[in-house]
Amino acid sequence: DAHVVILGAGHAGGTAAALLRQYGFEGAITLVGEESIPPYHRPPLSKASLRAASGAAPTLLKPTEFYETAGVRLRLGIRADKLERQSRTVTLSTGEDLQYDHLVIATGARPIRLRVAGSDLDGVLELRTAGDAERLKKALKAGQRLAIVGGGYIGLEVAASARALGADVTVIERELRLLARVACRELSTFFHDCHARQGVNFELGATVSGFEGQGGHITGVHLDDGRTIACDAALVGVGAVPNDEIARDAGLDTASGILVDLEARTSDPAIFAIGDVARRPIPLYAHVARLESVPNALEQAKQAVGAIVGRPAPVHEVPWQWSDQYDVKLQIAGQAIDVDRVLRRGGPSPESFAIFHLKGDRIQCVEAINSPQDFLVGKQFIGVRASIDPDKLSDAAIPLKEAVI
Ligand code: FAD
Repeated sequence: DAHVVILGAGHAGGTAAALLRQYGFEGAITLVGEESIPPYHRPPLSKASLRAASGAAPTLLKPTEFYETAGVRLRLGIRADKLERQSRTVTLSTGEDLQYDHLVIATGARPIRLRVAGSDLDGVLELRTAGDAERLKKALKAGQRLAIVGGGYIGLEVAASARALGADVTVIERELRLLARVACRELSTFFHDCHARQGVNFELGATVSGFEGQGGHITGVHLDDGRTIACDAALVGVGAVPNDEIARDAGLDTASGILVDLEARTSDPAIFAIGDVARRPIPLYAHVARLESVPNALEQAKQAVGAIVGRPAPVHEVPWQWSDQYDVKLQIAGQAIDVDRVLRRGGPSPESFAIFHLKGDRIQCVEAINSPQDFLVGKQFIGVRASIDPDKLSDAAIPLKEAVI
């Protein structure tokens, strides 16, 4: 019988293993993961589980027994070191060779490390794994000073959680606004105000030139204007890079991420790549991108597993993601590409609204703040490429569904 080997036991890899059985695959499945925990949810690591008073035990995707019952061989705490495509062999860190018929690479991404003096000091932290979250949680006691390098989603979610735990927080961001890479100006301002009201300090347009320490532990962050922000710990959240080396070394096509098609297939037909590690086509926008989100991991797991078991390719989905900060829920659908008009629509409460990005009379992207209805309907409109009346769209008194021309 066929053997599917999955490298990376994260959201994408874990989902692929479960889906194979759900889709009726009867061959052998081996799921290899470097972390010692079965697949778990990462989003809570910066949100609810970081704030929780109790320990931050990760929420598993499936109970541990699932893998045994489903006949999925879990090999945890083990790294896949080398891929040899000719012989269809993966060499593990244990020295063992695994032979595959289909290989699914789901190795995710890792945080970018700053290459500045003092990066290796104790208390300079990153957040990707449950282990990272535990270390960060220890640094978040009331009155402790946390410097956060990077005003993106992870930095801001951690800022909100850290404030909830009573820590003093300073966010240091190189750009002049928060969420510069991922959200529109109005949202940057909204979140800036929201965090400022909660007592978060900001250093915008500031570049970190190094960390200083005493006795091996961080005591401050140096900025390139000569100032030092004193702190007890620093979280660096400045983006992630794909773990695509194993694919690149094996000669698969990569370009900061493993290149795949709409079935998540790489340049080798026996090998798929899914989740944060993959650079994939996005048909709605006629471009390719690496999406770092749970919905993308799930969608690509469906694509790869569907192709392995011989199902027709699933209908492509509108990319979406979310972020939780304090009592604010941000939901984004689509991508703000080739936008020629930006419209605001008020939501059901003063703290709720949505920003619509239009190209002609089509919605390219919706960013909804505490406004799940606008998000859901907007996402649906993006998917079917609906033509929209902009006046109706921006009039919150008219139900959004009626804005279709
Ligand atoms: P991962 O979940 O990173 O899994 C990859 C796994 O592969 C890891 O366990 C890694 O150790 C392992 N691995 C790597 N190399 C090897 C190797 N050579 N051999 C064996 N194993 C290997 N997304 C959202 O949509 N909404 C959110 O609110 C959100 N919040 C987030 C908050 C945080 C703090 C983080 C870190 C991420 C968040 N994300 C969020 C992103 C989301 O978690 C990722 O998009 C998702 O986990 C990607 O799944 P993946 O399986 O591709 O990668």
